[in-house]
Amino acid sequence: MAVQGLYALQNGFIGFERNGLFFGERSGDRVQIPVACYLVKTGDATILFDTGFAPRAVPGLLRDDSLARFSDEDLLVHRLDSIGLEPHSVDVVVLSHLHFDHAGGTSLFPKSELIVQQDEYSYAHHPASCFASFYYRKNFDLPGYHWRLIEGDVELVPGVTVLRTEGHTPGHQSLLVELPESGPIILAGDCAYWQEHIDHERVPGVVWNPTQALHSVKRLKTIARLTGGKIFPSHDPLFWATVTQAPDAYR
Ligand SMILES: [Zn+2]
Repeated sequence: MAVQGLYALQNGFIGFERNGLFFGERSGDRVQIPVACYLVKTGDATILFDTGFAPRAVPGLLRDDSLARFSDEDLLVHRLDSIGLEPHSVDVVVLSHLHFDHAGGTSLFPKSELIVQQDEYSYAHHPASCFASFYYRKNFDLPGYHWRLIEGDVELVPGVTVLRTEGHTPGHQSLLVELPESGPIILAGDCAYWQEHIDHERVPGVVWNPTQALHSVKRLKTIARLTGGKIFPSHDPLFWATVTQAPDAYR
């Protein structure tokens, strides 16, 4: 059964330093970046890509970060509700990686299969001290949840394929979604923060292995070229303003 739709779900905005966005950048100027999740409906399964912030983290973000913006509609449960879904309607959650702005809402999904690369799951439990602040154990230390730890690329259902894109983190993954009308869309996750990372093959400033991160950007570009697909970066405010957002969908 084919893919039926792809919904972009806004999960608010935070401030981030330019030297965190771009490897080698010196400027500590802060910019406002979007945080997003995506919902893929297929004939076989309802699949969520990333879970955004933990709702419990929002008050602190709003208090400590002058560029943070978060409305009631930005809550993941409200975005899902806007397209007629509840957390228990989600069959599969694909986590690009386990940083706090991508895996924060995972505890909402005790019935879903949670898919993450084995290397990411292991690293998140024992990160190097310089990356520890990105991994909140409460987000993924979820006993009794249905974790499926994978290695490398996996076709989940026809038209939805996990692509391993490590570098930003040890087990980062992206998602290729083949839509009947819009064509292939690659949800890059943090393999590409901004369009500039794709166009000029730049690496995130927050990066576990810059060389692998660069190879992963190139890999997504090759797949996009060969399939005629488009790459969606994760945190680009200008790109985000052009995205069709839920309840509308890419078909
Ligand atoms: Zn990240």
